[in-house]
Amino acid sequence: MRISAGVVAPRPGRAVDAEAADRAEPNAAHRALAELEHAGIAVRILTQNVDGLHQKAGSSPRKVLELHGTIHEVVCVRCGVRTPSGQTLARVAAGEDDPRCAECAGILKLAVVLFGEHLDAAVAGQAERIAAHSGLMLAVGSSLQVEPVASLCAVAVNAGHRLVIVNRDPTPYDDLAAEVIREPIGAALPRICAALR
Ligand SMILES: [Zn+2]
Repeated sequence: MRISAGVVAPRPGRAVDAEAADRAEPNAAHRALAELEHAGIAVRILTQNVDGLHQKAGSSPRKVLELHGTIHEVVCVRCGVRTPSGQTLARVAAGEDDPRCAECAGILKLAVVLFGEHLDAAVAGQAERIAAHSGLMLAVGSSLQVEPVASLCAVAVNAGHRLVIVNRDPTPYDDLAAEVIREPIGAALPRICAALR
């Protein structure tokens, strides 16, 4: 069975704090999904989070599709080269005011999709293909109000797959779901993942 899970959407407009994110630790939900993968279940994670905590919890990087990018990399707006954001932060710490791309001297920005920006087309296409072959789509901790990510639930359902929503509040997709779970994610996900193993 293939499982897709979108876990915990960031709030629109929330400032990205790379250093605080470096100190953040995975929670029980992140760990449960990683353990599910290591138990031999085909898990793909579609996440709106940019914090890299799924990978930190042990999910294989190639199994995690970061729809809104990652704060752990910077990208050059001119040539597109990506480098670890730690390198750029180290240059700032060493006294460089405005570190530029080492390849082309272009402006560097965090490799994240900001509110109002479009998703990378290749990433969006990949997300749709994963949703269309989910088997089970778990939509976790998202109000499912940010498009086009939310409509991935409809893609899964239209392809005949089962949608389970875990969220504190009602979502526009609740009627499409086979099950809606209102429990806290940290309790619900470990239980769901244990049942799937
Ligand atoms: Zn460049």
